[in-house]
Amino acid sequence: MDDGGLVIMDDDGNEVVLDAREAEGLFAIAGRLEAATVSACPDCRCRVIATVALLDLLDAAAPHPRGGELMDLADDAPTLHLYVIDPFTMCDHPRWRDPLSDEWLEAVEEAERAKY
Ligand SMILES: [Zn+2]
Repeated sequence: MDDGGLVIMDDDGNEVVLDAREAEGLFAIAGRLEAATVSACPDCRCRVIATVALLDLLDAAAPHPRGGELMDLADDAPTLHLYVIDPFTMCDHPRWRDPLSDEWLEAVEEAERAKY
């Protein structure tokens, strides 16, 4: 994956990996995911999104090359939330301080533990 890409992951660690162009396209067609975002770092693209709202957004948006995969991910997600990870950000999210940022961090750390 190249700089600028994004990972969208569910609580089971299933993920859709977008390259920079796909990530940019998704943010463009889906209004930067604002309508689906329930909590986000103010300084980078890391965020928690609601699965149902994401499905609505994708449904209403212009087609995206990875839209089908994202819909499957949201459909099959074990919880109501999906986690958007910006793997290349240098951000430590110092200003992202709400309970959902902890949920995000836990999900991400667990996925990393499972992987390595
Ligand atoms: Zn951040």
